[in-house]
This record gives sequence, C-alpha cells and structure tokens, in this order.
Amino acid sequence: MQRRNILVVGAGPVGTVAALACARFGSTVTLLETEEKVDDSPRASTTQPPTLEILAELGLIDEYLRVGLVSRTFEFWDRPTLTRVAEFDFERLRDETDFPFVVQTEQHKLANMAIERLRNMPNAEVLLGCGVTGIEQNAKQVTVHAGERQFAADYVIGADGGRSTVRKSLGIEFEGFTWPERFLVVTTKFDFAAALGCCFRNYMADPQEWTNLFKVAGDDLKGRWRAVYNTREDESDDEARSDASVRARLSRVHVPEGSRDYLHLNLYNVHQRVAKNFRKGRVFLCGDAAHVNNPIGGLGLNSGIHEAWDLADLLNRVLHGEPHSILDEYEARRRPLNIEYVQEQTVANKKRLEERDPAQRARSFQELREMAEDPQRHKAFLMRASLLESTRRAIRN
Ligand SMILES: Cc1cc2nc3c(=O)[nH]c(=O)nc-3n(C[C@H](O)[C@H](O)[C@H](O)COP(=O)(O)OP(=O)(O)OC[C@H]3O[C@@H](n4cnc5c(N)ncnc54)[C@H](O)[C@@H]3O)c2cc1C
Repeated sequence: MQRRNILVVGAGPVGTVAALACARFGSTVTLLETEEKVDDSPRASTTQPPTLEILAELGLIDEYLRVGLVSRTFEFWDRPTLTRVAEFDFERLRDETDFPFVVQTEQHKLANMAIERLRNMPNAEVLLGCGVTGIEQNAKQVTVHAGERQFAADYVIGADGGRSTVRKSLGIEFEGFTWPERFLVVTTKFDFAAALGCCFRNYMADPQEWTNLFKVAGDDLKGRWRAVYNTREDESDDEARSDASVRARLSRVHVPEGSRDYLHLNLYNVHQRVAKNFRKGRVFLCGDAAHVNNPIGGLGLNSGIHEAWDLADLLNRVLHGEPHSILDEYEARRRPLNIEYVQEQTVANKKRLEERDPAQRARSFQELREMAEDPQRHKAFLMRASLLESTRRAIRN
C-alpha cells in the first residue's frame, strides 16, 4: 500500500483548500470524496477578508474575484416597516487588510477551483466517488478504508461535513443542539437592490419571520438573489416547500405578484454544535466535521478555511522535522476560537433578527445605529464580525 503524507476526506470547500495548502507545501496528498462531483446546492457564499487573504496566498484570488461579487457593505433592516436600520462598511478595515470587503462567491466554485489546481500537481491525487467507511491508526500511521480499498497516510484531515464519518469513527461527541425551526433558501432572479434600494447583503429583522437577502453571481455570472427565511416551528417541510407558501414568503419582502417565480428551493436543519475534540492521534477534524452553526453572519465556512490553513502549516512544519507536540496547538487554538467567535456570534445574530420583545428590539436597533455612527465601534464590530480579530488572535497565540 502506497503511503502518502496526508489524506484529506471530503472535497467540500474546506477539504479542497486543506488539500491544496498541504500540496503546495510539498506534501504528497490524496483527497477522497464520496460523490462523483462537488455539491453545488446553494450554501455558503460570503467570503470574509481573512479568508480572501488565504485565497490570495493560495493563488486563487483572481479567479475567485472573477466569478463572484464584491460587496463592501452590509445592512440591517426592519422588515415590517421596510426601513434600513444601519449600514456597516468594510472600507473601515482598510488599515487592517488588503481586502476591505467580502466576496459573494458560491462555495462549489471554490471547491472546483481547488480541485482543478490539485489535478495539475504531481504530488496530489483527487479520487471522486470514493467514500471513506472507516479509520484505524497506530503510533506510526493511519489506515483509511473506502469500501474494499485501503489508503495509508502519516496524517488524516477529516473535512467530511456535519455528518462526518471520520468524527464518528473516532468516537468524538458532537456537543450542542439543533434549532426547532428550519431555514428556507429561495433563489430568484428578482432584483431586490433595484426594488428596495438595499445592498448585496441584508439582514431583515422581524418578530414573525425574518429574511436575509444576498446577491450572488450564479454560474452564468448574470446574478441572482437568495432570500433566506426561518420556518415556523410547527410548519411541516411540505408546507414550507409548497409553491403557495414560497410565493407568500416572497410577497412579504415586497416581490410583486408577477415576479414571484423562483429558480431553486432549499430547506435546511440548523444546528449549533462543536466536536468535543478536534483531533485524535494522527487524525484531525476541520470545517463542518468539527463544528456547525446557523449561517447568519456567514462564518461557518470561513472559520473552516482558517482551520484548514492553520492545520496545513502545522503539519508541514512537523513533516519538516519540528516536534510532533506542536500539533497540540491545533485543537487548543481552534476550538475556543470557534466557540467564542462563530458559535457566540451566530446565536446572537439569530436572536437579533427574531427578537419578539418590542423594548428589546428597539434597544437592539438603537445599538446598531450607534455602532454604525461611531467610527471606533463601527470598526470594532467589523473586526469581530469578519473574523479578522479571531485570525489576528490565532497568529499571536
Ligand atoms: C443555507 C446556508 C448558507 C450558508 N452560508 C454561509 C456563508 O455565507 N458563509 C459561511 O462561512 N458559511 C456558510 N454556510 C456554512 C457552509 O455551507 C459550511 O460551513 C460549509 O459547507 C462547510 O464546508 P466543509 O467543506 O467543511 O463541509 P461540506 O461542504 O459539507 O463538504 C463535505 C464533503 O465531504 C464529503 N463526504 C462526506 N462524507 C464522506 C466520506 N465518508 N468520505 C468521503 N467524502 C465524504 C461530502 O460529500 C462533501 O463533499 C452556510 C450553510 C448553509 C446551509
């Protein structure tokens, strides 16, 4: 059995970035993916400044910008009155990063881009249609089973998503909870910016039903919008997906009757969970395999890519002779950062949108307005919301 340095399980955006980072450091890398092609259902698109910095280091940034949309601002709205509450502008981060904006690029584009690069590298191998079924390890190596096939590696990165087989094979608990409601994503060609005067990233609070509106480029680069809604707790999946209720939801964000056709629907269960451990021996968890969160704020995928980058660096250093003990830094650094920046912020973001108490709602809007108007607080809010603060802290640690 040929042994490689690193085996990555899962060709989502995190696994492909991890594999590319490790291969660019010179390691021999095999990437294993169950499916025959990258999943292109509408999930993450918001790419935060520190993630753009990583994509620049990986040589992907020009292509990434070409197939996405640059969005300098994001806005909070009061949905019942359809009024803008506050706008935040990434330009305030110009002193902190070369990328004072987010880029809205659909996550499957990133995974496909990284796979294409890997396929052109002599030290990398991509095997699609090859699902991992089990893992064993001893002090010297890891053996990964994919049905009848076996692969040996010095280290394994489990980036196989929220239902991770790698995490389950290691017996690692996925601590946290699942929200009672689901989130519905409606993809439409209706131009919300033209109709409402909003920007490309909008969070609309409403005690009955909130809505977030994002513009993405689409595969044809012609542009389309994603409207994300919470479902009612007692609403069945069939009801949420029904044509009548989708059209009613679009009407509630002022889409006129003749424009309520949609391109795609997606209904998701939403969780807040963090793996009890991010590592066992020579096997590491990264991305959704290690943590999941609600998507409000666009942080889950971004944090996964930061982990992949951090882990690739640590593994590279160990493969070049540094002590194995530096690998302890991975969990010690990444797990608390995920809890403090990703879990806490996404729970707070959700609460802000759905707040039912009128007094608390008014206070929350007032706080957003004051933060937006105060240059120091505006910047501090963006440093945290963009994960730049967590990234800088990770470097200092
Ligand atoms: C509606 C929605 C919107 C979102 N928006 C954002 C956003 O704007 N910004 C953000 O940062 N995050 C966002 N997220 C979260 C983001 O989509 C996830 O964090 C991201 O997909 C995680 O990437 P990943 O590579 O870790 O896992 P995945 O994308 O789940 O990829 C895992 C891969 O592993 C493969 N796999 C699974 N099991 C095996 C196996 N046994 N063997 C081999 N391969 C296997 C799967 O087929 C898959 O290709 C959003 C999520 C949702 C649902």
